[in-house]
Formats: sequence, C-alpha cells, structure tokens
Amino acid sequence: METLYRSTRDAAAKAVTASQAILQGLTPDGGLYVPVEMPTINLDFAKLSTFSYQEVAYQVMQPFFSDFTETELRACIDQAYDKKFDTPAIAPLRQSQDGYFLELFHGPTIAFKDMALSLLPHLMTTAAKKNQVAKDIVILTATSGDTGKAAMAGFADVPHTKIIVFYPRDGVSPIQKQQMVTQTGANTAVVALTGNFDQAQSHVKAIFNDTAFRQELARNHYQFSSANSINIGRLVPQIAYYIYTYAQLLNQKAIQLGDKINISVPTGNFGNILAAYYAKLLGLPVNKLICASNRNNVLTDFFRTGIYNRNREFFVTSSPSMDILVSSNLERLLFRLTGHNSEQTKRLMETLTTTGSYAINETMRAELSGFYAGYADEAATTKEINRIFRENQYTIDPHTAVASAVARQYREATGDKTLTVTVATASPFKFPNTVLAALAGEREATDGVLADERLANFINLPLPSAVSDLIGAPVLHKRETTPEQMRSIIADVLKLHA
Ligand SMILES: *Cc1c(COP(=O)(O)O)cnc(C)c1O
Repeated sequence: METLYRSTRDAAAKAVTASQAILQGLTPDGGLYVPVEMPTINLDFAKLSTFSYQEVAYQVMQPFFSDFTETELRACIDQAYDKKFDTPAIAPLRQSQDGYFLELFHGPTIAFKDMALSLLPHLMTTAAKKNQVAKDIVILTATSGDTGKAAMAGFADVPHTKIIVFYPRDGVSPIQKQQMVTQTGANTAVVALTGNFDQAQSHVKAIFNDTAFRQELARNHYQFSSANSINIGRLVPQIAYYIYTYAQLLNQKAIQLGDKINISVPTGNFGNILAAYYAKLLGLPVNKLICASNRNNVLTDFFRTGIYNRNREFFVTSSPSMDILVSSNLERLLFRLTGHNSEQTKRLMETLTTTGSYAINETMRAELSGFYAGYADEAATTKEINRIFRENQYTIDPHTAVASAVARQYREATGDKTLTVTVATASPFKFPNTVLAALAGEREATDGVLADERLANFINLPLPSAVSDLIGAPVLHKRETTPEQMRSIIADVLKLHA
C-alpha cells in the first residue's frame, strides 16, 4: 500500500509521495508532513530479534517510504549504516542498575543526530532522481549544536547538494563549535549567529516560506530543502531504533514477548520522542514515554497543565541540544491529539506565533496519558552523571543524564517497575567539561580536545576518533552574522544573481 503525506495545517492540499515530502521538508503552508494514514507493519518480534540493524531499519522504513524501490531503499540504508559507525550493532544497549541505556552515539559525530542524518542525504538524492529534479538542493539548517555537524558530515561533497548551517554563537560547546568550523567539503558553509537557537530556527523557517527568495533561488537553479528534524526523512529512520531495541531486549532475554517497556528521551525539538510515539502507534509495547527536559522546561509544563507557553526566560544549559523553547515536532503530536484536525492544529500554531502560547482542551489532554514529563536542572544533571558513574562505572553525557534523572523521578513518584530504556543521545566526550566537573569536581573549563584527553584518562577509555581527528584540523569557516542578515549571507554563499 502506498503511504502518502499531507500537511498538519491543510486538509485540502494534495497529498504527496514520501520522496516529494523528503525533498520539500516543510509543507507549502508552513505545516509539517504527516502520513495520511499511519502504515501498518507486521511487527513479528521473534523474527526481528534475529535481524541486523540494517534489516530492521528496512522493515520499519519500507512502509513509510513506499515509493522507493527495495533496491533504492536498501542502497540508502547500506550507505548510511556502514563503517562510519564504530560498532556493527549501530545502536547497542548497555545494561545498568536502573534498566538499559540505548546508545545512539556511535556514528561519525558521536551524537544521535547521526542515526538519521547518515541516511537523509541518500534518501534525498534518490528522491531527487525519482522526481526528475534538475536543480541543486540547498540544505538550510539551524542547529543547536549537533544537527549542523551531523548534517554536514552526511552531505559533504554529495553531488548536486549544498549545505548552509547556522549555529548560535554562544550556545554550543567548544567541541561542537570546533567540529563545525573545521568541516571539510566544497559544498559546506557554516555561519555563527548572534542570537539563540529559537531565533535561528524561526528565521530559517521564514526564509523557507519566503516566496520571492525561493524564486530567486529557482532562477539560479537551486531549491531549498530541510535537514532539520521536521523532515520525515529524519523522523522515520528514528522509529527504527526503538523497534530494534525491543527486538534486542527480547534477543537478550531481558523481556518476554508482549512485555511493555518505558522509554525516557532527552527532549528538545520533540523529534526523537515523537519517533518513539510513532513506534508505539505501530504496535511497539510501550507503557510510558518519558519526556525529559532540562531547565528550559516548557514541555514539562505543557504535559502537566495543557498550556504551552514560550514566553519565559531562556537558559543556556550544559545540555545545549535541548535548549529550545519552541519544539517544532510537537505540531505532529498536536495534530494527532486533535483527531487529525488541520483547522484546529493550524489555529493552535498561529496562536503560538502571535501570542507565544496556546492551551489545549480536555479531550486533547486525555490523549496525553501515555506520557510522563519532568525536568532536571543543572545540579540534578551533574548529580546524575556522578551517580551513574559510581553505580555502574559508566559515563553518560549531560543530555543522557537529564533523561536518566527524570526516569528516576518517575520511578520514585509512581513506583512503576516497568523496564526502562533511557536514550543516550551523545557521547560524554562531546561535553567533557561538564562530565569532568560532575565526576572529579573540576571547575576549570579548558579547550575542548584537551578536556577530552583528561576525560579519557579519568574514565580510562580511548579518545573517539571523532575527537582525535580534530587535533590540528584547520578552521575553514569564519562567517558570523545577525538573524536579519541571514538572507544576504545565503545569497553570498550561493553567489546568487537576480
Ligand atoms: C538533538 C538532541 C537532543 C534532542 O532531540 P530532539 O529530537 O530535538 O528532541 C537530545 N540530545 C542530543 C545530544 C541531541 O543532539
């Protein structure tokens, strides 16, 4: 059966194929693509538990990307999940006293965005071929730290693509910054922005929806696409590792067929946890989805009160990829909560734009009972890194620590003993200063790579090659701009002429 995609905000617009949705990123009306009907998948876990990551990924993604041929989709998967990952398991589980950690940081940039962004360029170039797109694709991305590097790692030197990444100048870690400004590839550009991630993201959205600018691009044989987590080419690959996790837990006899699990997800843009929610809709036995936030706890308040309110102070925390006040992918959840009502979804999103907040009704709130939401502040995050290390001789990064701390809050508040999988979204080597402070009480922030060498020493693990490769790598990107100047920077990078 063919799976088509429609906008969250417009019921009348014509549905598009998966490959068209991947190429376009956002819908023309500014909404997000969602399946017209959620595909059904035969989740035969007895069989899935014997499959490789690549095979599970194929089984999960095929019904979503139904206009790709088997050969096309398998080729994309094989090019994505190869030796770039430092373990053949791709997404291994690590047991702890509290349950399991699902490690999503074994890709080229040692963070979870690699899971989808290793695949997206291949999906996109395949989709371009299928749709006879003659223009070069321009990937425009706002990043809170990890997306930018992971997207560039995926797109670097991919023919007929260009990628321009904007990051908040003061909102990323030294390692993240170093990773970005040393990015190679003739088709890559990296720009530091004054302002925070939400500003960067909303400006990127505005540029996407700027018809005149799009026309100017088209005259120059370019077309925009998005690598942000709103692209279904990002979302769908993330469903695969939740199915794989359950299959592996069965394989390791940690659970029995049909047992429910809890999944705790460190959440920013709501992409990763939405993928878990989609997995549940497909039939994954899930008890609670735990939505974990840092001090920017707009989602915690939303789940607890039904009111989403971004009119609040913005904090830069030790888990910068979650420093977000507008979680774009939440729109897809809202769409489901309204019972696929695009009028209502559109109204809520417009209210958010004009007033900075919205409230959902009681019927919609009742649909949220499958979620638990909580947050960990900076002190709780540090304490959690320390606790997990003491109890398990295992080192987690600050994002993972937020999810782990909130999962513990949940257990203490409810007494629920369901096996919990905490999603580990970054390697501790991505945030060495915070981790060293938590483990050894170090107060002094040092240069990224030096800090990593000290961390490697302290926890007695080798430096990942993603870090050692940075040593001596030249800075290739020095552009800096204000949000208002983003269009002219893009024009400059693409050498546009009107
Ligand atoms: C992006 C990111 C998150 C947040 O994921 P969302 O899909 O945006 O909710 C959490 N942790 C890390 C390390 C990330 O890079």
